[in-house]
Amino acid sequence: MGKLSDIGTIKEILTKYGFSFLKSLGQNFLINPSVCPRMAEMSGAKEGVGVLEVGPGIGVLTYELAKRAEKVVSVELDKRLLPVLDETLAEFDNVKIINGDVLKTDLHRLIEDEFGGMEVVVCANLPYYITSPVIMKLLEEKLPVSSITVMVQKEAAERICAQLGTRQSGAVTAAINYYASAEMLFKVSAGSFMPAPKVDSAVIRLNVYSKPTVSVDNEEIFFKVIKAAFAQRRKTLLNTLSNSMSYSKAQITEALRSSSVDPTARAEQLKLEDFARISNELASID
Ligand code: SAM
Repeated sequence: MGKLSDIGTIKEILTKYGFSFLKSLGQNFLINPSVCPRMAEMSGAKEGVGVLEVGPGIGVLTYELAKRAEKVVSVELDKRLLPVLDETLAEFDNVKIINGDVLKTDLHRLIEDEFGGMEVVVCANLPYYITSPVIMKLLEEKLPVSSITVMVQKEAAERICAQLGTRQSGAVTAAINYYASAEMLFKVSAGSFMPAPKVDSAVIRLNVYSKPTVSVDNEEIFFKVIKAAFAQRRKTLLNTLSNSMSYSKAQITEALRSSSVDPTARAEQLKLEDFARISNELASID
């Protein structure tokens, strides 16, 4: 087998296994040889560090991670890729492929069983149809991972990495900012994938906080406030919160006043502390 990142080698492997891409599984494989080493390096994969990968495909990124990390565990849903990965990753004894759906996998258990007390990072070229659910699962389950380096659609990357309090921010910006700081690492053109998707991509890194930076009394209410506030982002907070939540207009008005938030402000003007104060006020209502 030639160098795995060579387009010739990749095509040869795909032909040998008669592999056809499944759009429904978000199968756009990386064929740009400079992207995977860069991503692996920036993910913090190194000696003593374990890497959890989602969706190895034919293993181009897995290969670069395995070269650097202590151990790589990769969850792949498509059974057809298992024999391919056996061949492409044959030279490593520190890689384990688990066949399954990452959204249905008990990741706490996996991390405990596979990585012991090792520092763990996540690195993945995510299937785009489940970008947000995967990222939110990794964060909401409060997994013991120090960072999450992922390739996502460029628009999603911009939204996630936006500053709260600006027009570019959205519910996902606020939700992710509760758990981690987000940084844009580099952009990747659509032509770096096979088949080429319609949109460009970007690699982002979420540096996970050991504990959230704002104090929230009830996380369920906090996330409901964020979702409701951005659901109708052009409306005032007073209107959008009273339309989408089960509190009266008077209760919302009082919660906003006690939180020192202008009821005529829009969600995109708020900082994380504002969402926390509003939700703490609402949580204190019987
Ligand atoms: N890492 C490879 C690369 O960079 O070339 C492939 C990335 S491709 C964008 C996404 C991969 O995720 C595919 O291999 C796909 O089969 C896999 N996948 C899709 N849905 C999944 C799920 N729910 N759980 C685990 N893997 C999934």
